[in-house]
Amino acid sequence: NLVAVAVQARGGQGLPRSSGLSDDLFAHDGQITKRPVRALALSALAPRPRERLWDIGAGSGSISVEWALCGGTATAIELREDRAANIRDNAAAFGLAHRITILAGKAPEALAACEAPDAVFIGGGLDRAMFDVIWSRLKPGVRVVAHSVTLETEALLGELHQQHGGELMRVEFAHAAPLGRYRSWEAARPVAQWSVVR
Ligand code: SAH
Repeated sequence: NLVAVAVQARGGQGLPRSSGLSDDLFAHDGQITKRPVRALALSALAPRPRERLWDIGAGSGSISVEWALCGGTATAIELREDRAANIRDNAAAFGLAHRITILAGKAPEALAACEAPDAVFIGGGLDRAMFDVIWSRLKPGVRVVAHSVTLETEALLGELHQQHGGELMRVEFAHAAPLGRYRSWEAARPVAQWSVVR
């Protein structure tokens, strides 16, 4: 249990209260919203106790886990069965299996029978057709946050921002890494984030 081990390694001090937990606390295959970007996602999602999240393209489920740690419930939708298994493990490791529902399937189809959410995170599979189906199902007041790493999805976020308003931003992180005897900045791929209230 990664979480139990980590908490013990920290002298039994428990989990930090802030969003943006270490990537090492999650079982993942590299497809995970990295810690600093995840903190920005949670900040935009603005979780409150008892609220429901749809986490679309949930990957490792890290967004659902951090949402549920704030007292809400999440439905994690993930196309790949192997990643859905990671989500299951992560939910259990954090003691959140009762608050995270896992749907191994394709959005938006897999969401047909789901209860209406208070917030939606789109971290994978976003295209115009998917967005239109989801948007049409949301009640006014629902927070929507979408991330993109590809130029194609970023272009769509540009269109959606023009059409629906909200906030569009792009973040670029770089980490100091060895370069010969020195260090240099190693840039991560830029991520665009669009957040809007329906
Ligand atoms: N936020 C995640 C990372 C998302 S990576 C985390 O922190 O772990 C994007 C994921 O979206 C991938 O795992 C991919 O399999 C999934 N995906 C892509 N299209 C999808 C679709 N239409 N329905 C469900 N999942 C999808």
